[in-house]
Amino acid sequence: MRPFILDPIFTSVRSLAGIGPKTAKLIEKLTGNEKLVSMLWHLPVRFIDRRYNPKVANATSGAIVTLTVKVDAHSPSKIRSRPYRIHCSDSSGSVDLIYFNAKTSWLENQFPIGQTRIISGEVEYYHGTLQMPHPDMVGTEDERDKIEIVEPVYPMTAGVTHKTMHKIISQVLPRVPSLPEWLDKALIEREHWVCWHEAINEVHTPEQEDDLMPSSKIRQRLAYDELLANQLAIALVRNHNKKQDGRVFIPEPALIKKALASLPFTLTKAQELAVAEIAKDMGEPYRMLRLLQGDVGSGKTIVAFFAVLNAVSNNAQGALMAPTEILAQQHAKNITPFAEALGIKVVLLTGRHKGKIRAEILEQIASGEAQIIIGTHALFQQDIIFKDLGLAVVDEQHRFGVHQRLELAQKGVGTDVLVMTATPIPRTLTLTAYGDMDVSRLNEKPAGRMPIETSIIPKNRLAEVVEGLKRKIDSGSRAYWVCPLIEESEVLDLAAAEERFIELQTIFGERVALLHGRMKADEKEQIMQSFAAGELDLLIATTVIEVGVDVPEATLIIIEHAERFGLSQLHQLRGRVGRGKEQSNCILVYNSKIGENGRKRLQTIRSTEDGFIIAEEDLKLRGAGEILGTRQSGLPEFKLSNLNEHAHLLRMAGDDAKLIISKDPNLQSERGKALRILLYLFERDHAIQYLHSG
Ligand code: ADP
Ligand code: MG
Repeated sequence: MRPFILDPIFTSVRSLAGIGPKTAKLIEKLTGNEKLVSMLWHLPVRFIDRRYNPKVANATSGAIVTLTVKVDAHSPSKIRSRPYRIHCSDSSGSVDLIYFNAKTSWLENQFPIGQTRIISGEVEYYHGTLQMPHPDMVGTEDERDKIEIVEPVYPMTAGVTHKTMHKIISQVLPRVPSLPEWLDKALIEREHWVCWHEAINEVHTPEQEDDLMPSSKIRQRLAYDELLANQLAIALVRNHNKKQDGRVFIPEPALIKKALASLPFTLTKAQELAVAEIAKDMGEPYRMLRLLQGDVGSGKTIVAFFAVLNAVSNNAQGALMAPTEILAQQHAKNITPFAEALGIKVVLLTGRHKGKIRAEILEQIASGEAQIIIGTHALFQQDIIFKDLGLAVVDEQHRFGVHQRLELAQKGVGTDVLVMTATPIPRTLTLTAYGDMDVSRLNEKPAGRMPIETSIIPKNRLAEVVEGLKRKIDSGSRAYWVCPLIEESEVLDLAAAEERFIELQTIFGERVALLHGRMKADEKEQIMQSFAAGELDLLIATTVIEVGVDVPEATLIIIEHAERFGLSQLHQLRGRVGRGKEQSNCILVYNSKIGENGRKRLQTIRSTEDGFIIAEEDLKLRGAGEILGTRQSGLPEFKLSNLNEHAHLLRMAGDDAKLIISKDPNLQSERGKALRILLYLFERDHAIQYLHSG
């Protein structure tokens, strides 16, 4: 349960004066929920300094000033297009307040003749008269303190106005509780940080440009708090997993040797290392939770196969789960010959298998006759009972979502888990998203792979591209043609892909197919199968082919409007070719209206095939959340930290979290209790369940 001390900021914005359900809806759109605490994380990007309060005669044109004036006279507009003027003055001179389309009664109310008013806004000279059009703030002398301020300006989205933001934040700040310090005293002293309460107040009351910088002391402290909450939550989960009883699977050297000898190739250094890391984990008495990262074609499947062997040679079963039917089939096709050579029984189970066949497979899984089980999420189903699931391998993890990470493992006891992802993730992101896992990286390609030749071509030379495509296909190659699909106008984009399809069909005839995201899964797979089998030469596709389909005969990929794709996406797409022994080509066709960033992206793609370098570059050019699409990837979204500017803080927070867990694993100490509040503050409630009370 969330500590009471946080209640004041965990209520809805509706509890504030002047904020109704309509504004609350807008706020929810802006920050994801309507809790006050989310408004605290919404940081100002600029500020308006209203502390400059000259005499009227000294007010400079174009400046924001706060003036103290007497109301002299009203002069309503005689013609509709003319403004309403209110003549005001102080001892030094006069100024006109200008209102277009304002209610007379309201103006008369606000500005009674003879009274003093504080007004704040931008002034200008117009035909020699000083005037202030639509003052931002108006008040009586009593209200001076509320007007002569530095006013923060927030990123305005979702129709939330500056005024509303101000109304909210000025009411939220007084409600912010003082919280016990969760940071180490020595750290605070070394960094010259202030306490959280002061930091959150100051970040919303910036007074100079430096206050807005990610490098400011205030912002660093707040970023550190957020990162520490993230790292601590991860450390708690990890600690919990480590303490869970696992199985000891001692690798059988003779079997490994035999398996190695049966491969038609030798493992790369990176594969050898990953195999060894996994073997070591599996031999330990705790549960393995390891992430295997490697580009498309880096050879993850074989690594997974060796992991499975460790379970099998200890009389347990290994399961490999792929995100799609076609990938499951591909894995089965790759692994079965190697396994059979060792006398190991492999079964495939997908949604396709029904009735009697399915029952037979289930029987083999339950009896233990099936030693390696490959499948789709069909493996999750209730009625599937493993005799003894020792290792669960989950491929292309982000397609499943983080929550499903451990679901398959529930089918066994102390089951080891190996997650494979083909999306290279920058190191900093790995820490924040997969910090609960150990990581193995395949950072080299198997020997003998030809580099992919990548070229960048403007759209007005598309005819040449089609000529080249024709030559390739005539010589027996297969090719992909990618048309972009952009969310805003899915229909239009689809129309463009269809148009391209019809056009290319006139050249290439029946051996062309169109593949897009709106098709049924069955239909898509049918087409991919035909392409893989060589019944089709050319696939016109929207980005659906991103999913790791393996067709070694495909040696050309043409990407239209390449400038619209993100770096990682381009990299994934290019990875569809270069999978066989033939030289492959990637042609990036760009529109003439390409921007600076787009050009940079295309050049990066042309200059390297290293997915990890591309991923780091991608992180620099875009925000962290965008890398994989936060929702899909389960990547955490940071509100106060910026992973480029605060990478050093992330590392510090990671070390800090480890130290905390080693000294006070259940957060029982004084600082531990404060850290629990930190976890709730950043809504890492899920991690709390791993703490034992008492
Ligand atoms: P990934 O799953 O990482 O995209 P795969 O495991 O599907 O890659 O491997 C791609 C292809 O490379 C497969 O045909 C596989 O047999 C082959 N392969 C894997 N490791 C090696 C190696 N060390 N040398 C040569 N070929 C390899
Ligand atoms: Mg794969």
